[in-house]
Amino acid sequence: MHRPARMRATGKPLSQNPKSVYRRIWYARRRAALIALLGNCCASCGETEFLQFDHADTRDWDVRGVHSTKRLRIYAEEIRAGKIQLLCISCNSSKQDATETEVPF
Ligand SMILES: [Zn+2]
Repeated sequence: MHRPARMRATGKPLSQNPKSVYRRIWYARRRAALIALLGNCCASCGETEFLQFDHADTRDWDVRGVHSTKRLRIYAEEIRAGKIQLLCISCNSSKQDATETEVPF
């Protein structure tokens, strides 16, 4: 499962902090894969952009402060357990229990 720690040069100038850039790309890809698992659209209105993970039980669900790698692993487990649905940002924020269930990276 391990990927190389560094990305290969793509011709673009290296960022000042390539590690952090790599991590962001990795996170975005993994996150996109999880979103695809959930059908790529908002469970409520069908919106396909600005999607967020919405957990069925927000009381047990707080990933703030959790490292991004671990956070994605938690998402994957919860998705398999059927506890997460996709909501677009507007559906998610209009919910009564407007607890933020996903922290932007
Ligand atoms: Zn929606």
